[in-house]
Amino acid sequence: MRIGVDLGGTKIEALALDDSGHELQRIRVSTPRGDYDGTVDAIAKLVSDLEAATGKRGTVGVGIPGTVVESTGLVKNANSTWINDKPFQADLCQALAREVRCANDANCLAVSEATDGSVAGVPVVFAVIMGTGCGGGIAFHGRVHAGRNGIAGEWGHMPLPWANADEFPGPACYCGRYGCLETWISGTGFEKDYTRSKGEALRGKEIVAKARTGDLEAIACLDRLQDRLARGLAVIANVLDPDAIVIGGGLSNMDELYIGISERISGYAFGGSMYTPVLKARHGDSSGVRGAAWLWPATS
Ligand SMILES: [Zn+2]
Repeated sequence: MRIGVDLGGTKIEALALDDSGHELQRIRVSTPRGDYDGTVDAIAKLVSDLEAATGKRGTVGVGIPGTVVESTGLVKNANSTWINDKPFQADLCQALAREVRCANDANCLAVSEATDGSVAGVPVVFAVIMGTGCGGGIAFHGRVHAGRNGIAGEWGHMPLPWANADEFPGPACYCGRYGCLETWISGTGFEKDYTRSKGEALRGKEIVAKARTGDLEAIACLDRLQDRLARGLAVIANVLDPDAIVIGGGLSNMDELYIGISERISGYAFGGSMYTPVLKARHGDSSGVRGAAWLWPATS
């Protein structure tokens, strides 16, 4: 049995999968925000509850909104800031009396989709989470490629490529810089873009609904979102040239995002023509927690 845990800002979700990826049991609790020991304890309890419910012992993988730096064993870049600079993986190993694997949540998405999702069996996958924030992750043959510094695929905090005059320097980002991709192509960035152009605050879903009724301002906002996404993905194509790109997170459910996206990426990628499929995550909101479980692949 594999147990996956997804540590989110508001909830922690845990699920148990059997060998074929069939879901045995799923539970969730509120995240003890700001409480490091409480977060470790909550994860340990979720695992023991799943094992009590299934009567089996499992491997444990945990998706975190940050990364464990291999050389120090400490977490960095987590927006759940109370786990930053802590030996989170080691503390979980101790609490659960077994080896626990932690990985960035975008890397978990990549692993999930490359294992039994929309890009199953695809060798090199770049995964994007477009939710409240925006992140990226890489899987090679279904396994995380975290990188030397644990930041491989950290796409949300590079600058928007080929910025127009009115996009420069761009909105301030929480990381301290301006114009990061996250400030443009996350759900939050999408909503702020609409507010800037229209002077009215709407939720992402409302903007999409307006676009579908033919509202020109909303259509233009969606068009800018897709163009900025294409620019960001063109850089990924130039650097990594993955076999497939998969998108998860709240914005990934917007079908308009995928129409003509490959042509747009081709317009920016070096040499033009790009044949990389850009697909919606098959497992939707479950991709993170499933990917965490698959951090222990069948062959390990
Ligand atoms: Zn940033």
